[in-house]
Amino acid sequence: MAMVSTYCPQFNGLRRSCPKLDNAQPQSFLQHINSQLRLSSSRKPCRAVIAMAGSGKFFVGGNWKCNGTKDSITKLVSDLNSAKLETDVDVVVAPPFVYLDQVNATLTDRIEVSAQNSWIGKGGAFTGEISVEQLKDIGCKWVILGHSERRHVIGEDDQFIGKKAAYALNEGLGVIACIGELLEEREAGKTFDVCFQQLKSFADVVPSWDNIVIAYEPVWAIGTGKVATPQQAQEVHVAVRDWLKKNVSEEVASKTRIIYGGNLDTISFVVLEEVASKTRIIYGGSVNGSNCVELAKQEDIDGFLVGGASLKGPEFATIVNSVISKRVAA
Ligand code: PEP
Repeated sequence: MAMVSTYCPQFNGLRRSCPKLDNAQPQSFLQHINSQLRLSSSRKPCRAVIAMAGSGKFFVGGNWKCNGTKDSITKLVSDLNSAKLETDVDVVVAPPFVYLDQVNATLTDRIEVSAQNSWIGKGGAFTGEISVEQLKDIGCKWVILGHSERRHVIGEDDQFIGKKAAYALNEGLGVIACIGELLEEREAGKTFDVCFQQLKSFADVVPSWDNIVIAYEPVWAIGTGKVATPQQAQEVHVAVRDWLKKNVSEEVASKTRIIYGGNLDTISFVVLEEVASKTRIIYGGSVNGSNCVELAKQEDIDGFLVGGASLKGPEFATIVNSVISKRVAA
């Protein structure tokens, strides 16, 4: 059900108030806090009514995988630099390692750069690996971990992926944590079991959920052109958010904080939000310029992880701008 807020008619971007706080606090106090949150945000005041279950900013990542040459990547960067991107979206691209530095040096600051993998610990005698420290050294802000191609082609298991995530997060990289079921697992009715098990292996080791974006990517939809229907995706996204609510919030809420301060002379507010509400859950699997709008309209879809279509600048921009379909005219 689309959320239409009566609580705060002038939302900034895609925020929705946290029900737990709403129930627990007097409204005037919350309104005061919310006014501070908006002041401290870099986003411009805009849309009035929101169709989004989470409180996080829309997030779109482009996974370039093992594609591209110096020339094609120069062209892609140039297309992205000239694209008009809606402001209320976090945009990230993940080039192959060898082009990370080139992309980071030439891409607009509007778009952040991600790696497609990272080593489980500090660098050293690990031939062929790239450390988190090296990624940070060249200005990389994110890493994709647990992608189905790493799980099912390279053979990485839950525990190994969890270790990588914990290390990257502890060192300050954001993690795009991928989960998703195989076709046979879906057909056997195991979609939730598989996703929850993969989520648990992240939850067991991560220090907090502050810097994690969950990408639900059904394996049967990745690179196949067979996109999940909006309902299929929404069904899993709701379940993932629910799982977070039940299994994570209690454990790590005390470490998962959003701290707002600076706009008041003497007081800074520390606001604890439910992990489930603020963690972005994005969908990946054959998203393109034609199907993104219907998917984005789903209340629990907080953005996308895009493979093939992220190699075309204008189409990727269209996907980023599908955030517009989240907004309902005032
Ligand atoms: C991906 O690799 O994460 C992905 C979603 O690929 P595609 O969009 O090509 O299905």
